[in-house]
Amino acid sequence: MHLLRRVSWVAGLAGIGLVGCDAATTSAQANAVPPPSAVQLPAPTPCAEDAGWSDPTPPRHVFGNTWFVGTCSIGAFLITSPEGHVLIDAATMEAAPSIAANTRAAGFRLEDIKKILVTHEHNDHVGGVAALQTLSGAPVFARPAAADALKAGISDRRDPQFEVVDRFPPVANVQPLVDGLVVEVGPLRIDHLPNTGHTAGGSGWAWTSCEGETCRRIVYPDSVSAISDKTYRYLDHPDHVAAFRQTLATIATQRCDILLTTHVQSSDMLARLDGHKPLVDADACRAYAANALTGLEKRLADEKNGAAP
Ligand SMILES: [Zn+2]
Repeated sequence: MHLLRRVSWVAGLAGIGLVGCDAATTSAQANAVPPPSAVQLPAPTPCAEDAGWSDPTPPRHVFGNTWFVGTCSIGAFLITSPEGHVLIDAATMEAAPSIAANTRAAGFRLEDIKKILVTHEHNDHVGGVAALQTLSGAPVFARPAAADALKAGISDRRDPQFEVVDRFPPVANVQPLVDGLVVEVGPLRIDHLPNTGHTAGGSGWAWTSCEGETCRRIVYPDSVSAISDKTYRYLDHPDHVAAFRQTLATIATQRCDILLTTHVQSSDMLARLDGHKPLVDADACRAYAANALTGLEKRLADEKNGAAP
């Protein structure tokens, strides 16, 4: 079965600078699946400002065929189609039951999740993957460093935070992901954005969702903070830093109508999903990347003057 289609990275960027449905690429049009019959979502309950990674919150409709199924502080998203769904991220092991419940509350069956994608190989984003794989039967797709971590239940020394991260339940069925692939399920087309920097195996994802004639490019970049344990120095890993810079340049130049983030607080995401702040902001990805670049430069300067790690 033809599950993954190789495209050039240039093709993945074809939509840059274009807005609205007129700009929809072939893959975007393929994502123009109407949402399922209206489901009465539970009322969004407020999350505490200091909410933990595993604290549950009801699902939210993002746009078109895209749903938030994460926790009060961690992103997890369901992209749906009549031929099966894609789940991106699964928060912590403790959060897995609420992600499953949110999927059902949004009107979808876990058994219809055909692929699980991830951002990066840390407990707060992939700790729940093993449980969601058991419930759905779906394979997980990850870049090599993330795939190794998923299978082991912990990252390795390629991870700047290796000495301080927590273990998580190992994942059985992990498939390799080649940078720049388009992940397909039925009519869904989800572009892979390599996201080296915060970890060695990070991935961002981008897709187009439509409601009638209105289409939005949704970008879910990975975490982009330059932080580490007491041992890792970014200056000792120039290739990693170069890839980090490339990652930020890529995020900054995405056509980006709706920014979704791995940590809810990074973009005030629940307030935007609940209509308290604008959800659509074509400058959001550029600002997200610019803020991260400032953080990376500060980190490198701190390493040079002995203030870090
Ligand atoms: Zn992390």
